[in-house]
Amino acid sequence: LACQASDLRVDRELGQGVCGVVSMATHLPTGRRLAIKAMRLHLAVGADCSSGEERRRVLNDLEVAGKCRDCPHIVQFYGAVLCQSEVWVCMELMATCLDRLLRCCGNRGLSEPVLGKLVVPVLRALHYLKERHNLIHRDVKPSNVLLSWRGQVKLCDFGISGQLVNSKAHTRTAGCIAYLAPERITLSSAYDIRSDVWSLGVTLVELATGRHPLAGCSCEMELLTRIVDDPPPQLPRLAAGCTFSDHFRDFVTKCLMKDVNLRPKYQRLLCHDFVKYHEQTQTDLSEWLAELMSRYPELNVNSMAAARRRKLSAA
Ligand code: ADP
Ligand code: MG
Repeated sequence: LACQASDLRVDRELGQGVCGVVSMATHLPTGRRLAIKAMRLHLAVGADCSSGEERRRVLNDLEVAGKCRDCPHIVQFYGAVLCQSEVWVCMELMATCLDRLLRCCGNRGLSEPVLGKLVVPVLRALHYLKERHNLIHRDVKPSNVLLSWRGQVKLCDFGISGQLVNSKAHTRTAGCIAYLAPERITLSSAYDIRSDVWSLGVTLVELATGRHPLAGCSCEMELLTRIVDDPPPQLPRLAAGCTFSDHFRDFVTKCLMKDVNLRPKYQRLLCHDFVKYHEQTQTDLSEWLAELMSRYPELNVNSMAAARRRKLSAA
């Protein structure tokens, strides 16, 4: 897909994050739909170096995304367009993401068979990034796990990834605070993939129970303090009407070991009973997603657009 700003029509906004806005768009020459993440590039021409950090983020994003075409569990990157003071990162349009899914379903939490099926590709994507490209993701959270219409699970957003080997940014605590590992706050260790393992653990507790384990903190400081001082979050035996197996709970407990040295890396997690079991199960995520989308049309980026068009034409 050759990318040129004039070939792209931005159709509607899908959401906003720390680094920019994600929109649904059309590549006019082919009619192909895609997602565009627009990130401001303050430095544009000859700006000051205070935005060096931002530039580095953007460049990282592109460099990493371009290298991951051979992993089926990573959102496909089509190219980037520099557009005035913004860079537009063009990528595969996905049907929905896990944080929208949770909100649409009234925060009821997902069942263990579904979570088991979701966790396998996420782990494989993270492991692939580390093994193949020596990368840490650094922003693992529900909104960065996307689902295609066929129920494929893909990881996105390497905006704050960095290369392990030459990263001088060992101490940078980017990413969403609520998913930060304790050692990222106390800065007691260099950045390690095991900080992502913690974020994955928090993500799983949130997806299983429908609620972030530290929801309700009144300010950032309280959140940071509790991550460092409280015992780690756990998966209860029973939540939101679902029961969770011992092997699922053990998997989460391992991800959420507060001592980073005790927390397993991907290789071990991929051999955990919970993962081994769900690699074999027949749970069909495409059927599950289709059923959810018929019940909650707003879950689907497509019908969100259709609803908006209907509203506009009625007005
Ligand atoms: P966040 O910090 O919430 O991840 P982002 O800017 O990365 O913020 O994304 C904003 C929203 O757009 C999120 O809900 C995300 O899931 C959604 N999104 C991002 N990329 C895509 C994509 N390729 N297809 C569909 N939705 C996407
Ligand atoms: Mg994101």
